Amino acid sequence: MPNRYDLHAHSTASDGTLSPSELMQRAHAAGIQVMALTDHDTLEGLPEAAASAQELGLEFVPGVEVSVTWQGTTVHIVGLGVASDSQVLGRGLAGLREFRDWRAEEIGRRLARHGIDGAFEGAFAYSNGRLISRTHFARFLVEKRHAPDLRAVFRRFLVDGKPGFVAGQWAELEDAVRWIHAAGGQAVIAHPARYKVTRSKLRRLFAEFAELGGEALEVVSGSHSRDDYFTMAQHARDFGLLASAGSDYHGPEHPWIELGRLPELPDRCNAVWKDWHISH
Ligand code: AMP
Ligand code: MN
Ligand code: MN
Ligand code: MN
Repeated sequence: MPNRYDLHAHSTASDGTLSPSELMQRAHAAGIQVMALTDHDTLEGLPEAAASAQELGLEFVPGVEVSVTWQGTTVHIVGLGVASDSQVLGRGLAGLREFRDWRAEEIGRRLARHGIDGAFEGAFAYSNGRLISRTHFARFLVEKRHAPDLRAVFRRFLVDGKPGFVAGQWAELEDAVRWIHAAGGQAVIAHPARYKVTRSKLRRLFAEFAELGGEALEVVSGSHSRDDYFTMAQHARDFGLLASAGSDYHGPEHPWIELGRLPELPDRCNAVWKDWHISH
């Protein structure tokens, strides 16, 4: 049975390629019943997604994916069920977008020194003047044939040690959890198997997150393997955390992730949605 919940996805409000309403239409067509929009560091797409989901009869979960720097590592914290007019969360995210704007110019300068001109302008055009991310640089660099695809572009230009890399200075973990709670949401560690840290450091992250009142781990993720599902389910149980499921869908240009294909949570997980009041 596929999972009827998808609690992690992106739109053109951040680095996805479908508009919020196109995303909702595609989710509905794929058989999803409860769909979140969790753009990076912005709430801008939520009203459009909510209106579209309502028209379709799709249960909508307003969300966000907050960029965090924890002990030198970038970690993503998804907020689920956040109020899109929350002042505390809105102000926090605005600060992160300021860093994004500065970082984008700095990435442009570094790529220029590496002989690639016009990268900031090119990435900016891909972002449509909305939130700017490394994904927009990647699309520009693929267009200019500096690498064959997005994955290769990241590997060659945009990760630590490469010419276009700028270290993140994102939110504190504590602040991300606090902002999400202030907006009435639940905090979820996104794609925990993807962080390149040791198992003991990962468990320190889970312990600190649970201590701060964080609610859940994304056990089932579009970027997790089957083994990861079971490992993360065990971690969730060990730390008394709930389990979430999300594709991290960014649009049809990433053909390795499609909507409506997530499996159900492993047995003995407590779902992050267990106390939600929804009609399905
Ligand atoms: P940013 O938050 O601007 O640093 O960009 C991070 C985003 O880049 C992630 O949310 C992914 O969408 C994308 N990304 C990161 N690493 C890769 C990769 N290796 N291949 C494709 N996309 C990636
Ligand atoms: Mn992304
Ligand atoms: Mn992420
Ligand atoms: Mn994501």
